Amino acid sequence: MLIDFHTHCFPDKIAQKAIEKLSDASGGLIYHTDGTVSGLLDSMQRHNTDASVVLNIATNAHQQKSVNDFAAAINDEQKVFAFGSVFPDSEDALEELERIKDLGLKGVKLHPDYQGFDVDDPKMKPIYKKISSLGLITVFHAGFDYGFAPPYGATPEKMAKALLWFDSPVIAAHWGGINCGQGVLSHLCGKDIYFDTSFGYSMMPKYYAEKILEKHGTDKMLFGTDTPWHTAEMEMRLLHNLKLSDSDMEKITHLNAEKLLFSGEPLNNN
Ligand SMILES: [Zn+2]
Repeated sequence: MLIDFHTHCFPDKIAQKAIEKLSDASGGLIYHTDGTVSGLLDSMQRHNTDASVVLNIATNAHQQKSVNDFAAAINDEQKVFAFGSVFPDSEDALEELERIKDLGLKGVKLHPDYQGFDVDDPKMKPIYKKISSLGLITVFHAGFDYGFAPPYGATPEKMAKALLWFDSPVIAAHWGGINCGQGVLSHLCGKDIYFDTSFGYSMMPKYYAEKILEKHGTDKMLFGTDTPWHTAEMEMRLLHNLKLSDSDMEKITHLNAEKLLFSGEPLNNN
């Protein structure tokens, strides 16, 4: 059983353009799917992935509703668990969070750099409180983003402060922060926060991956790829290289995700 907690795809008619634009902004990143939902499903089949969490991001206020409608349309609760998003500066962000809940989505993705905020900015407090009251899961992009110049909106230090405003599960993507191994160890490990393993292959130094697992344990680690940018094969290569026990691998590859998504019930997608 393999659940990928960090993937992306786009509506068919904009997928190609979206993916080329994102690749270009990040220095020509290679993409491993065509950016569509069917491209994601093909990739899942190739890599024996049973279910994927699709993370959508509203990059402006105007886009918010259509992003969440897309999420609801592809959210089949079997193979695809799509998360919604709100644009923090939009006037109706709090109402849209309620709509996300009503649409049956289990969480939201927030990306400080694409959405123009620091995770510990007090303006975010009402949004985090609303998310918490609705019991939604929050995935933050964390650490560096190759499409942006520093300073970055979700460094481990800022994330540790933001965490205090949440009463619902928080996931810091990319092992707690791309290129932030030391900061993750100092500010986040051992706290009530999940890390996903996405985009870790060839990015997260083995030294830090081992130290993070040692200090944070494996109960709050979630397998993720960041498809289309990385594949399950790539991320598995890193995990296997870390010589985890079978029970730790089970937790990371699906048990922890099942706890978060279905209160521990096994995924049943047959
Ligand atoms: Zn991503």
